[in-house]
Amino acid sequence: MNIRYAIKNGELVYIEDVENGLACECICVSCGDSLIARNNGLVKEHHFAHKSGSECVSGYETMLHHMAKEVLAKEKRFLLPDLYIAGEFNYNKFLVEVGEIIDIKDVWLETKQGAIIPDLVIEYGNDKRMFIEIKVTHAVEPEKMKIITRMGVDTIEVSIDRMEIPTISRIKDILISEKENKEWLYSERAVETIDKLRMCSEEKAVISRGFALHIDNCPIDCRVWEKQSYANFTDDCLYCRFNVLGDYREGTVMCLGKSKVEGVIELEEIDEVEKENNIISSIKFKDGIIVKFEKSNYVVSTLKDIWIQNGCKPFLAKNTNPEIAVFITKDPEIQLNKYKKCYGNVYRNGHNIGSREIFGANKRQWELIPKKI
Ligand code: SF4
Ligand SMILES: [Zn+2]
Repeated sequence: MNIRYAIKNGELVYIEDVENGLACECICVSCGDSLIARNNGLVKEHHFAHKSGSECVSGYETMLHHMAKEVLAKEKRFLLPDLYIAGEFNYNKFLVEVGEIIDIKDVWLETKQGAIIPDLVIEYGNDKRMFIEIKVTHAVEPEKMKIITRMGVDTIEVSIDRMEIPTISRIKDILISEKENKEWLYSERAVETIDKLRMCSEEKAVISRGFALHIDNCPIDCRVWEKQSYANFTDDCLYCRFNVLGDYREGTVMCLGKSKVEGVIELEEIDEVEKENNIISSIKFKDGIIVKFEKSNYVVSTLKDIWIQNGCKPFLAKNTNPEIAVFITKDPEIQLNKYKKCYGNVYRNGHNIGSREIFGANKRQWELIPKKI
């Protein structure tokens, strides 16, 4: 056991600063058991052992929480990590904020905050609160993460590897001088930035043409075919500087090509964005300048248009999004009975975005119109 700190008279004490054996009068930071100080030997690392012989599984982690609290309470500073927004698959990282030192007013250890107990809570700035989670082996559980998100409290995870000899000076370096071992688990600033990025982007349909996945009307004219600009989803969009959200819902890309937002500087210059049918028609900048865009030649068909174009033949289904139409070529009831699933060709904004599961395991509510043809 590498427990080298314990509690004596309510204070955190180091193994080398106490008497040997039970005379140390120390208790375990985690379970409160009496401890024996083993600090006489010349061979083994000096450490505390539980008098009861208990293994005390959370002893090491709790000790690190105490040590981190001790450092923060004494130093009154904490270095934030850089804040990025990064999509799951795209190759861009959008830098929102460079992490800086914050001055801490107060720090609490394992205190109840609503329904959760964060490892540490710090107070800084104008009555601002932040949670710090120390990760040794276990990351924060999804349930706890949900509550933190609901509470909207900025939270940072600090990873501390299991050290042979955990020392206060190493913990101090991690907390005050290093950024590498930290990660934002929740940031109000990131949430606001994502909202604004969505406002400044156009949701563009990914269209399957044979084996290729295309986006029509690429604002930066990545590729041109018969005077029509387009982009290749895998070769262009995934690497594009105007694709920062990596938000690919229902076969679409959130494209910032029209608003030309590549970083927070451009994003902050934008005041309002007007859209028609999800296509940006004008952008108002903070300095009062308004840029208007010509109507694009993008066709937004209604459900009925597409159905009529298809000779009213296949079964037609719609969902809550009016831009989406689905054609099911085989009788959906027969498909469902046979395969417990039913597939259809999905059209978005008049473009075929490929075959998707419509009924079955998919929870989305689709409505057949009409019920039978
Ligand atoms: S993400 Fe980039 S490449 Fe893709 S359509 Fe937008 S501007 Fe073009
Ligand atoms: Zn213990």
